[in-house]
Amino acid sequence: MPSKRVVCKKCGNCCNTVKGIPLSQKEASKLSRGKIVSSGKPQIRSIGGVCALLNRRLCAEYANRPSKCRQYPFAFINGKAILEINCSSMRELHVRGETMLTRAEIEKIPFLKKALLELEKENPLVRVQNKFVITDR
Ligand code: SF4
Ligand code: SF4
Repeated sequence: MPSKRVVCKKCGNCCNTVKGIPLSQKEASKLSRGKIVSSGKPQIRSIGGVCALLNRRLCAEYANRPSKCRQYPFAFINGKAILEINCSSMRELHVRGETMLTRAEIEKIPFLKKALLELEKENPLVRVQNKFVITDR
């Protein structure tokens, strides 16, 4: 049973295995212009999977990081929220096959609860979802 002892390990995995992070126009306007690819939909640049805003394992513009980053390790795919196994903390919780976390379990883990609230802001469907699978998709 997961507990409050599960914390973000500040490993940086969520920032060094990315392929361009999609941004809304509002999010893009708050970030350093040189770090953004603006042809088509705006995205944060990444080089070899590393986000251009990552600086020594920390986000150089943490206060203005986009919603995709605030929601991590959750992602919303095909109408459902999942938890990314790429996150070191999720990998630690993963047992075998599919590890399922209930909403009640997630609410006991402060950094996951915060990320879930961020996800719900953009995806009202998440509010009725009670179980979340840790997956590599
Ligand atoms: S914007 Fe910041 S939090 Fe998001 S991937 Fe880049 S470095 Fe990480
Ligand atoms: S959210 Fe997960 S992958 Fe990102 S820094 Fe924390 S433990 Fe690492």
